[in-house]
Amino acid sequence: MGYVKLHGQPPRRVGKIVCLARNYAAHIRELGNATPEAPVLFIKPSTSIVHDGAQIAIPSYSSDCHHEVELAVLIGRTVRDISAAQAADCIGGYGVALDMTLRDTQAELKGKGLPWEMAKGFDTSCPLGVFVPAEQVADPHDLRITLRVNDEIRQDGSTALMLRRIPETLAHVSTVFTLEEGDILLTGTPAGVARVVSGDRLVAKVEGLPTLAVSVA
Ligand code: MG
Repeated sequence: MGYVKLHGQPPRRVGKIVCLARNYAAHIRELGNATPEAPVLFIKPSTSIVHDGAQIAIPSYSSDCHHEVELAVLIGRTVRDISAAQAADCIGGYGVALDMTLRDTQAELKGKGLPWEMAKGFDTSCPLGVFVPAEQVADPHDLRITLRVNDEIRQDGSTALMLRRIPETLAHVSTVFTLEEGDILLTGTPAGVARVVSGDRLVAKVEGLPTLAVSVA
């Protein structure tokens, strides 16, 4: 069972990680996808979580593992069917996450109309930084978000560029899944996703939040 670290508090067990795809226009363009009319959601299992200092293990069935740096939202209170106006009350904290993605596997599954779990939910596919309480983040939609690989900047965006904002997304997600305390929402990645290989060092950063550093085994 995976857990999340919230600054100054004991670790919390994570139930599920709900992920939003295609939430930054430039990233949609770089993968040649269409802008979705409704949110595109998938789930990573909590067994995919690793923490700062971990090694990412690329499964043997893939040779094209990509980084996707994302702002992550920790659910602090169990809710269902909330409005966007109510969403702030259920946010327990914010952190930085990596949505590691096997792009070759995902492309094959997408082509066949099959689910994405083999590409998105494998062990070590969800590195999480230490989260901070929500009240320490003045505006989650005005934060620089970056990913460096071996000290070279690969992704450099702003959470201001999200197509769907966090309250709207939480409201939508909560009509599908009960959001439980300890669940996590990943809010999508900005442009610049690219392949990583064995030995790469990744440093993910969202302005004002603790840095996440991992390497590829
Ligand atoms: Mg993603």
